[in-house]
Amino acid sequence: MSRVDPFALPGRFRRGNLHTHSTASDGHLTPADVCERYRTAGYDFLAITDHFLERYGHALTDVSACETADFVTLRGAELHAGRIGSGEFWHLLGIGLPADFAPPSEDETGPQLAARALAAGSFVAAAHPAWYGATESEIRSLGPIHAVEVWNATAADLNDRPDSWYVLDQLLSSGGVYHAIASDDAHFTGERNDAFQAWVWVKVEALTAVHLLTALKAGQFYSSTGPEIHSIAIDAARWMTIECTPVDRVFVTARGHQVTSVQGRGLTEAALDLADLDGPYCRVTVRDQDGFRAWSNPILLPVAAGSVTDEGTHAP
Ligand SMILES: [Zn+2]
Ligand SMILES: [Zn+2]
Repeated sequence: MSRVDPFALPGRFRRGNLHTHSTASDGHLTPADVCERYRTAGYDFLAITDHFLERYGHALTDVSACETADFVTLRGAELHAGRIGSGEFWHLLGIGLPADFAPPSEDETGPQLAARALAAGSFVAAAHPAWYGATESEIRSLGPIHAVEVWNATAADLNDRPDSWYVLDQLLSSGGVYHAIASDDAHFTGERNDAFQAWVWVKVEALTAVHLLTALKAGQFYSSTGPEIHSIAIDAARWMTIECTPVDRVFVTARGHQVTSVQGRGLTEAALDLADLDGPYCRVTVRDQDGFRAWSNPILLPVAAGSVTDEGTHAP
């Protein structure tokens, strides 16, 4: 949940992919080749998140040698332990893990692994809940993780379940506090359209791993499969103004079916009245004429002027 408005902060938005595999696990390109592909595609940063499994030697793929002045890498992994109700291993993303992060023990649960990754200082996200049917209560059992992966490009081609917003909306509606990330989960198989499909724009004052990690944890970013959001602001009268690259739809959604929206052609700004939206959160989606979208992080919905405030109830 975003308390800090990334659009009002100083610095620049930097684009990165937080979920990628290489030949260090089940990806098809070497770590150096993966970096080269993202760097030449114009990305500012990348986390290679190989499967942290015994059969891959519990790789924490180090691609720091691929860094340039304009391209930063974050050490990460896709972590697995325990099992969710469907019987499958948990899939968690740990970004910014220390090089000596210990492999899970045989009896470590998903929530225990998430807690250990958090204690190690990493940004922790629940990966692709929709892809493997992880439920709201299972994600909640992970404790205070940072984010839910709401869009996973690989899942679009694996089982047509790229979109996990449904689970995150449920978590937020019951007072949960999470950010939302979109990512590729690229494997470069050649068969799937799994690279350069979904990313995050993170607002930082300097392009360093430390700045990026701090900003990710604070929710100073938004996610996209195409459009760019330039600003989101809410005034005291609960009007929201949004500026973005040309889109045809602007939605501000909230708990249940609540929505306020604007429809048009090539919209680059919109003003929406949030007065009727009931908290605890809202979020912005913009969609362009080709169906590509950008999503804000969940936003703590300001309480209407004159009403009784109890903001602490929803404080992160
Ligand atoms: Zn996974
Ligand atoms: Zn993955």
